Amino acid sequence: MPIRLTEDQQHKLFQHIREKWGQNRPCPMCGHNKWTVDATVYRLAAMTTETAAANHIVQPLATVRCRHCSNMVLIHLTQSGVATPTELSLAAPGQPESIVGMATSGSVNIDSKDETH
Ligand SMILES: [Zn+2]
Repeated sequence: MPIRLTEDQQHKLFQHIREKWGQNRPCPMCGHNKWTVDATVYRLAAMTTETAAANHIVQPLATVRCRHCSNMVLIHLTQSGVATPTELSLAAPGQPESIVGMATSGSVNIDSKDETH
């Protein structure tokens, strides 16, 4: 069963987007301003040769999708303050360590290896 943002977390996500993007932020691909937010929590996992570290290099994300051209923007849930690692762990019984780890060592590891910046 997918993990979904609570109503409070969804409210924080909308608030974050409004605060950072402003009220009128058209899609950079098509120019339309028809965004939709998916309340499902996604994870972006790094490819790694170390099996033990695989679950610790994970980014918790929400998607914001353009309804005209399907371009997607990813919002990092813990960095944006939408959800805490503890809240995400509580939402996923059975995987607490992997989800807690993604907000601490995970983001640092990925950012330091990202050559696109
Ligand atoms: Zn678009």
